[in-house]
Amino acid sequence: SGHEDKILKQVVCLDAAGGSDGEERPVYSVVIPVYNEQDVISTTCQRLKSVMDRLQAPYELIFVNDGSTDHSRSILETLSVEDPTVKVVNFSRNFGHQAAVEAGMDYASGKAVIVIDADLQDPPEIIPRMVEKWKQGYDVVYGKRVARRGETRFKLWTAAAFYRMLRRLTDIEIPVDTGDFRLIDRKVCDVVTRMPEKARFMRGLVAWAGFRQAALEYVREPRLAGETKYPLSRMVRLSMDAVTSFSDKPLKWPLYAGGALAASGVAALLISMWRALAGARSDLLWLCSVILTGNGLVLTGIGIMGQYVSRIYDEVRQRPLYIVESARRLKRTSSHE
Ligand code: UDP
Ligand code: MG
Repeated sequence: SGHEDKILKQVVCLDAAGGSDGEERPVYSVVIPVYNEQDVISTTCQRLKSVMDRLQAPYELIFVNDGSTDHSRSILETLSVEDPTVKVVNFSRNFGHQAAVEAGMDYASGKAVIVIDADLQDPPEIIPRMVEKWKQGYDVVYGKRVARRGETRFKLWTAAAFYRMLRRLTDIEIPVDTGDFRLIDRKVCDVVTRMPEKARFMRGLVAWAGFRQAALEYVREPRLAGETKYPLSRMVRLSMDAVTSFSDKPLKWPLYAGGALAASGVAALLISMWRALAGARSDLLWLCSVILTGNGLVLTGIGIMGQYVSRIYDEVRQRPLYIVESARRLKRTSSHE
């Protein structure tokens, strides 16, 4: 996956040659990941434009075409020829939703970055309310789904279970029932895009970054056309990324289980010894105690190893130790940021 990321960055650099130097810097950058959305993107673009026009400030729409195999690419290119605010990043193949969001944020030059799905499940009409909160001083305004329309019961159930599991497993507050639909201030965007880690669970990283965060409740609409690109296998992968990036609790489970097993093994051993001394014939308890103790010790060993693996993992991720929002009359002499 490290290799993939390198390729990704190269693709991004190749494309950057045709960038937007000399133009005035937009206030708002809207990032839209697109994977096979030919039936909706024109409508999405129109609706986004009519909402953004009303904000009366320069903006850009960055469509990240994540290796679509339908006509999305040519539609997007036509849109961008007709309209200078429409910008397109094309991936060389499908790298996945999170990578597309990341690339869009890498490219965005606005003071506020808005990430929104291409399928109009997240209504663009919410954006002005996000902007309002941003102007009140919030650095991250995330959309919280109070209801989801037009999604299968299975999807609703798995999504709900996912967010709740994540909340139990991790130490940081990853808000429940929020997707990637959010507004992010420039400084938070800079922090997140500078994090070098490879498995990127964007919602987690943004939550981890801190700053002033606010929720905005909205109703998630059904997809306008096409079908979901998140089958079960992808959802499982996303949740594995989320858990392994933000929690080392699973690494501790063998330790607890091993400790419990070894302890019950020792207890069984003592009981069977006591019975033998009392003159009873030897029984299976003796065998049990040996198996329990042995397995318990092995599991404990794995658990201890897990503790070290988790430390190594922390180091390898190279997340900053802290993020400074502002400092008065101080100059930094070394940096762990
Ligand atoms: N998407 C993407 N790459 C992928 C899968 C999805 O860029 O590999 C985009 C997709 O076009 C959409 C957004 O990510 O704009 C969310 O995907 P989808 O609507 O399929 O997910 P769901 O809303 O069903 O969770
Ligand atoms: Mg969707």
